[in-house]
Amino acid sequence: MEIPYIIEYEDIINYAHILKTIPCCVCHGHSARIKIQIQSETLDKSDMVVNFYDLKKILKRFDHITLISKEYCTGWTGKMGDGVIVEIKEKRYVFPTSDVLFLEQEPTVEYLSELIYNEVKNLNEEFKVRVQVWETEKGSCVYGDKLL
Ligand SMILES: [Zn+2]
Repeated sequence: MEIPYIIEYEDIINYAHILKTIPCCVCHGHSARIKIQIQSETLDKSDMVVNFYDLKKILKRFDHITLISKEYCTGWTGKMGDGVIVEIKEKRYVFPTSDVLFLEQEPTVEYLSELIYNEVKNLNEEFKVRVQVWETEKGSCVYGDKLL
């Protein structure tokens, strides 16, 4: 067994979301700190575990966007369907379609951690990956494999 490398990448993403629980059922935002750790026993052709730029690209998908469970999408509006209607807890929002990323589940810190984990794991199935997302300074979720 080779001695493994562990790399860490940290960044901040800004997103809005709506959850079904009170008080989070009001559209609000977070500046979430994300930490990605990857353990690998091998390096790529560039002698890296992974290019940090690839991790930045993964996080970019969730940055400056409104995360909403697709369960609350009730229709489209506008000439080209360029507005999306979201109904939750007897409230109706209309967002520009380009400003929303619909997810399969509630956009909780737990699910966001899992989504980022899956994206990193897709880079290389051999990686052991651990993701931590701080939604606030006080609360975070850790999701992933056991590292050294
Ligand atoms: Zn929130």
